[in-house]
Amino acid sequence: MLKLMLIVLSILMVFNVEVINANLPKFKQATKEDGSLSLLVIGDWGRHGAFNQSLVATQMGIVGEKLEVDFMISTGDNFYDNGLTGVHDPAFKHSFTDVYTAPSLQKRWYTVLGNHDYRGDVLAHLSPVLRKRDSRWFSLRSYVVKTDIVDFFFVDTTPFQDKYFIEDEGHTYDWRGVLPRKRYLSNLLQDLDESLKKSTAKWKFVIGHHPILSAGHHGNTEELVDQLLPILEENKVDLYINGHDHCLEHISSPVSKLQFLTSGGGSKAWRGDEKQWNEEELKLYYDGQGFMSMEVTRSRVDVAFYDAFGNVLHKWGRGNSNFYTY
Ligand SMILES: [Zn+2]
Repeated sequence: MLKLMLIVLSILMVFNVEVINANLPKFKQATKEDGSLSLLVIGDWGRHGAFNQSLVATQMGIVGEKLEVDFMISTGDNFYDNGLTGVHDPAFKHSFTDVYTAPSLQKRWYTVLGNHDYRGDVLAHLSPVLRKRDSRWFSLRSYVVKTDIVDFFFVDTTPFQDKYFIEDEGHTYDWRGVLPRKRYLSNLLQDLDESLKKSTAKWKFVIGHHPILSAGHHGNTEELVDQLLPILEENKVDLYINGHDHCLEHISSPVSKLQFLTSGGGSKAWRGDEKQWNEEELKLYYDGQGFMSMEVTRSRVDVAFYDAFGNVLHKWGRGNSNFYTY
């Protein structure tokens, strides 16, 4: 417990950010002077620049400059294949610092852990030591980033999935800090529910590594459909944003305003096994590499998906009470 407090204190000192209260740690992020926000979302990327990771990074730099992005979100699987070996793992430099070099990307990177990150030394991935190696890095398991117009809820989704605990595919996972699992998950869901209920932000976005719904290789995550989705719908969350499937994807909920956005095209893609999906709900499925941008104001949110060459594949936006695709 003392160690955890010291880690949180170190984060505060490094970033000079304000913790608003306990439960899920909460951090304040400034908006632009006009009260708006813009950001990029990337997932499933760390491969030493290979599999077009560098190509995607170049286009992120260009779009990031155009939108004057305030920060980046990583939807996890940050370091392939097996996370980080420790705080001095050269992969941190070769897959992150040396790849995302554009001036516009020199902002904070809010990250979540993916299942591949759990195959390495998770405590290293979460360690403040990494922020000394690259001050952009921000990695906690579950937390809230509060701004004047939108609250971002980051959720650690890997421990929800049963198969990592029961199937032996030759992989080992670092569950330090997660066990006993049942208590970890129930605390997390309760903390998230309470934080969402307390939020007075105009917009509520939730970010996790695993999709709730996806037409991609991994498909729906049933544990999240059962346990996380009801909380998001009850609390009128606007967007659920994830990676894990190596694609760009937009699914519109048939029963609520919730939109499911996958940005998992940071490097290796082109799996070629898209599942059948209702065309009314599946607004975009792109099997290749790319990333997503978001522009948010008090009255409007706009997202766009880009391929590895910077071409816009799909745009979606929503105003106060009405929304449209184009
Ligand atoms: Zn994954």
